[in-house]
Amino acid sequence: MSHLPGLLLPHIKVSTKPEEDHKGDIQTGMLINKKIAFRLFVAFTLIWMFRPAYSFADTQQRDVYQFEQRIVQLVESSDYFSMRTLGIVKYGTFSSPIWLISFKGDAVKTKKVFISGGVHGDEPAGPEAVLATIIEVANDPSKYEHVNIDFVPLVNPSGWVNGTRLNAAGEDINRDFHLLKSQEAIIINDYLLSRRRYKLMIDHHEDPRYPGFYVVTYGNDRLSLIADVTQKVKEAGYPLRSFKCNEGYFNVSKKMTPKLKNKTFMSYARSHYSKMAYQIESPISPNMRDRTIMHSMADQEFINSLR
Ligand SMILES: [Zn+2]
Repeated sequence: MSHLPGLLLPHIKVSTKPEEDHKGDIQTGMLINKKIAFRLFVAFTLIWMFRPAYSFADTQQRDVYQFEQRIVQLVESSDYFSMRTLGIVKYGTFSSPIWLISFKGDAVKTKKVFISGGVHGDEPAGPEAVLATIIEVANDPSKYEHVNIDFVPLVNPSGWVNGTRLNAAGEDINRDFHLLKSQEAIIINDYLLSRRRYKLMIDHHEDPRYPGFYVVTYGNDRLSLIADVTQKVKEAGYPLRSFKCNEGYFNVSKKMTPKLKNKTFMSYARSHYSKMAYQIESPISPNMRDRTIMHSMADQEFINSLR
């Protein structure tokens, strides 16, 4: 995806419609209009050529510090959560932490869960869904006593701020985990290495190509569980993706996972950190609230299945 806007030329309408009694002025009128149009064209072109250099401030849509404040409020409202910075990403004058929010269940034996969102900056339902699941867990911690959950709500802060799929270096973080060149993938992978294995990993995305919700999983042998989860989403009134998709999910075989052309964060996770790795996708046509509910509902169902 290119991020440099194309040369936008102004659409100038040159009126050539003559009045009945001014037929003699048609030629002159058209000439004047063409002159004006030409001058406008030159003026706009010069303005375009000498516009200020591209910067974050030009296109900033979202504020990482406001997002941080929302997280801080959630964490401070519950004794079960802690928060830390896994690392700082820097692009020129822009910098942002990548936050980790951890929930610790009360049970003696707990299972480890990892949930992330915002790998693609132009898929804002992911970060919102992660916050929604944090709120759900904070509201009813006893329901989640059997798990410890690591939440990374915003994997790609620079992309999220600018509303772009890629980070500010033009890298697709979802394709980078097996290469580990991007700042974001390195920071998150360093943390995952320290945690070794997870029982369950979920990464939230949005897909504008399909009108339905779906789950992608890799080498997964618990397909009936996924069908149960997507069925719950359907029963809540949300459409499932049907195109090349069985009951709202598809499973890439274990053999194919390392050979995938489009390797993803979750295909990498399946190969290194968890037998249950899910990439969850919502359609973009429903409003943000509904998209958030779909994702968070899937989180809750998958976590509850670990009881
Ligand atoms: Zn995505």
